[in-house]
Amino acid sequence: MKRKLVMATLSLSLAFSTYTVSAETLSSIKEKKEQNRSEQNQTKSELKENQNQQDYMVKQIEDLESSIDKTLSQIGNKKESIKETKASIEKLKEEIQVLEKRIKERDELLKERVSSMYESGGAVNYLDVLLGAKDFGDFLDRVFALNVIAEQDKAILEEHKQDKAAVEEKKGKVESELTSLNKDLKELEGLNQKLTAQKKQKNALLAQLEKEEEHLHDHIMKLDEKNDLLSAQEAAIKAEIARAKKEEEERKKREAAARAAAEAAAAKAKAEAAARAKSSSNSGSSRPVSPPPAPTPAPAPVYRDFIFPSQGIITSNFGYRSSGMHYGMDIAKGGSTVPIVAAASGTVSKAYYSSSYGNVVYITHYINGQLYTTIYAHMRSTPAVRSGQSVSQGTFLGYQGNTGASRGQHLHFELHKGPWNDSKSNAVDPRPYIQ
Ligand SMILES: [Zn+2]
Repeated sequence: MKRKLVMATLSLSLAFSTYTVSAETLSSIKEKKEQNRSEQNQTKSELKENQNQQDYMVKQIEDLESSIDKTLSQIGNKKESIKETKASIEKLKEEIQVLEKRIKERDELLKERVSSMYESGGAVNYLDVLLGAKDFGDFLDRVFALNVIAEQDKAILEEHKQDKAAVEEKKGKVESELTSLNKDLKELEGLNQKLTAQKKQKNALLAQLEKEEEHLHDHIMKLDEKNDLLSAQEAAIKAEIARAKKEEEERKKREAAARAAAEAAAAKAKAEAAARAKSSSNSGSSRPVSPPPAPTPAPAPVYRDFIFPSQGIITSNFGYRSSGMHYGMDIAKGGSTVPIVAAASGTVSKAYYSSSYGNVVYITHYINGQLYTTIYAHMRSTPAVRSGQSVSQGTFLGYQGNTGASRGQHLHFELHKGPWNDSKSNAVDPRPYIQ
């Protein structure tokens, strides 16, 4: 009676403590999910801010591009004007040359005429003209005529000189126009350089923002993956505990039935013995009562909580290595059909493709009140089990492969004493558990 009470107290306290541990585990998972969610919201708002900045930057680049277009068309116009101005300067220079030539010719003609008045043998002998007069009246007419010619020559010369001065003035104006056009062009080219440099800078900023955006997207994806894993694990833990409770109840029922059967058998044996004793006392003879031989129990199969999950050699152990902490052990064997099996009975919390683990299976186990998580990574193809599925020790999960961040075919196997978390703080060396 006393022993029974102790046993009952023990099992009660055990049940109570496991219940408390599981409740704590579930609440810690909830907490992690909450942290994840707030980090996710933070990242999402960062992403929104990033996108706003990108929109702003794109708008600024568009404005700069339209300014650059405007400046380039102004530069084109200026260059056209400069070309036209240079052409008109050339034209004016030619005009000036023509006028200079005319002035020179007229000047020479005039000089020639004046000298001819005093010297004989010129082209027009003025003296001959004068001396050839018939009378004084004719002489005066001839003097007058000669004067008129000289005056006309002078007037033409003056005209030429005035024309030349006007053209030179015009040329001067056009040349100063050219100078101002060249100055404008230089300024516009400077502006264009400045705008182009600004555009380059903004483009670099935009590229940086795009890179950050990609990073934020990746981060959100990772947080989504973590949250999915945590949620799936929460469900698997509940399922595992329910299963353990059911198994416990069934075991108790079996034990109670066995006890009742044993008690009934004992009572029957006792009654039979009493009946025999009565009949022997009646007959007077005394025979020793031999108890029926106890059946020898069949040897219980050697049961291990965890078995080796695949075939092959251990290529890497749990622990630190050059690339950082290795949270599991690697088991490798060649061939396209090297099976991977569940190391213990449990519930598949997640079977999916991850960018790092490739095709991977997460299993939640609840063994003797202790929660464990096993992970089977880099499987060849889509896992043979699905999330939420209940598996037995040895259930086929998939084949060894090289998917995800893996170099060469192997199984990366992890064991966590407790639930999985992204800091992998519950990871333990699986070797002592499976060997
Ligand atoms: Zn590994």
